[in-house]
Amino acid sequence: MSILTLSARDGLLTRGKRDDSHHSRPGHPGWLRCFSLTDDQHARSLRLSIRATRSGTHASHHDSRGLAKRRALLVLCGVALVLNCRSAEVRAQVPSWLEQYRQPAARLIGEATGDTFAWRRLAVLTDSIGHRLSGTPQLDRAIEWAAAEMKRDGLENVHTEPVMVPHWVRGNESADIVEPGRHGMVMLGLGGSVSTPASGIQAEVIAVHSFNDLDAAGSSLKGKIVFFNVPYTSYEETVTYRSDGPSRASRLGAVAVLVRSVGPPGLRTPHTGALQYAADAPKIPAAAITTEDADRVQRTIDRGDRVTVRLRMEAHFESEALSANVVGELRGREKPDEFVVIGGHLDSWDVGAGATDDGGGCVVTWEALRLMKKLNLRPRRTVRVVLWTNEENGTRGGTAYRDQHRSELGHHVMMLESDNGVFRPLGFGFTGSDRARQKIRAIATLLRGIAADAVLPGGEGADTNPSVREARIPSLALAVDDARYFTIHHTPADTIDKIDPVEMARCAAAVAVMTYVVADLADRLEW
Ligand SMILES: [Zn+2]
Repeated sequence: MSILTLSARDGLLTRGKRDDSHHSRPGHPGWLRCFSLTDDQHARSLRLSIRATRSGTHASHHDSRGLAKRRALLVLCGVALVLNCRSAEVRAQVPSWLEQYRQPAARLIGEATGDTFAWRRLAVLTDSIGHRLSGTPQLDRAIEWAAAEMKRDGLENVHTEPVMVPHWVRGNESADIVEPGRHGMVMLGLGGSVSTPASGIQAEVIAVHSFNDLDAAGSSLKGKIVFFNVPYTSYEETVTYRSDGPSRASRLGAVAVLVRSVGPPGLRTPHTGALQYAADAPKIPAAAITTEDADRVQRTIDRGDRVTVRLRMEAHFESEALSANVVGELRGREKPDEFVVIGGHLDSWDVGAGATDDGGGCVVTWEALRLMKKLNLRPRRTVRVVLWTNEENGTRGGTAYRDQHRSELGHHVMMLESDNGVFRPLGFGFTGSDRARQKIRAIATLLRGIAADAVLPGGEGADTNPSVREARIPSLALAVDDARYFTIHHTPADTIDKIDPVEMARCAAAVAVMTYVVADLADRLEW
């Protein structure tokens, strides 16, 4: 019985720590706290232990099995005390205001993780609509669908806010090795690239492994296709070859650029993503090739063979298109004019299904409001979900939000973006003052039961940054185990089958608890 009790407590250790934290009054001696088991769970645990010990005592008069049982129970009681002492250490750090949020947090976590609703909603978006590049009818449909679904959830003030977005069209494209031998590479043009002439560009490929290499090659690159074969280290480090490589090569006379896909080796998956043309360099077409094809080109060059590629791309911009941010709210019960804003970006690249980047982020943040509504948990302040448009190739949604809400940015208490995938949640990245971080840390302890209680540096989000930077708003970013993220993002493999429904439900739970408590705090979270 005691074993069961203890293993149950072990499994719910974090809940145990949470539930007894209201004994952490200043000046309350630690040892006394160890024995003050007035909490329901602890009391039940102790009662069970005592009852078992007593029956063991009686039994010991009659047989040695009883004695052994009693010894075992005493050991278990000792373990219980050690566990309770550990709880006491934790209790000592937990502020009293957190107590009132244990029950709502447990309800939100229970509701989120008791169902696969979030994953199924994402499946509808990714299966029935699919990828959603800015300017496409699919993104328009996704916006309409999201607004209609938010209304069905019973969210308030559901509306769309117009945003003009760039409309880049990929068109047909190919990159073929024509010598030595012929080989059709798997490629994706980089977002924002210009086209080749209709007949394509055929030229020798020169491989470089850094910008230093590039500059050293200098004028020998004239008329050549520059191939940035830079192995992936981290996204931040490697992405610069995709974004800045084309213009840097063009200044030296290159006619086109190929980049090794920015991501770990996948299964012959090319990664698209935006390039940034510099104003002072001629625009040349640029495409990503798979790591497998990158290695093949490199091996061939290393053998001393000349590699010639024919690149054909129809990529171009059409006129800007009308798009929108989708907004839904749960109005605050006491301070409806103060806002906690959470969301993800509804647009995606034009390959895969935009499941991880960032349909999942949209759904798990939106879930926070649906869960609160369903459980009749209405915080003091208004919680607003925003599904931003055009993050991938313009960030117009994020800047439009800042511009359209400029007058109320001072009343934004916190902003949170989920755009790192919805894999196993770890906690949150946070940007703001140390004082605010202490509060976020305390709230995060409510997420120990789902192991999502880490508070890490880095609360930035591409769509929240414009507002956050202008008005110094504390900001959070959902942090997840992103080991799989960069293998699939911006690729044809960004589909929902890579996402685990349980992990996704936990992401929704983490966002819901953090958002609810921040929106309900008696004193607003201050920068
Ligand atoms: Zn994204």
